[in-house]
Amino acid sequence: MKLPDAIKNLNDLAYLTRRKLENENGEQRGAVVMWRTKGAEEFNYLLQCPFCGVEEQSQAFFKKRPYRVQCSNCGKSILIEKLAPK
Ligand SMILES: [Zn+2]
Repeated sequence: MKLPDAIKNLNDLAYLTRRKLENENGEQRGAVVMWRTKGAEEFNYLLQCPFCGVEEQSQAFFKKRPYRVQCSNCGKSILIEKLAPK
């Protein structure tokens, strides 16, 4: 997965996470990078769906945890666990 230019300047970011994603068999087949720039309400994310393998970049608003994103190709909902730092 190629990282987007938007997240290369960490000083502009209020939030950044990157994690691997598993499919229904527990196999690592996908990944997600999620970030939010300072002053913005929406999160941006780059998703490689662990179920169908398609990559997409999109935006989402999250009102409450746990955060979920939906693959626009296969429609599966993907849980982004433990988004906040401990
Ligand atoms: Zn998918």
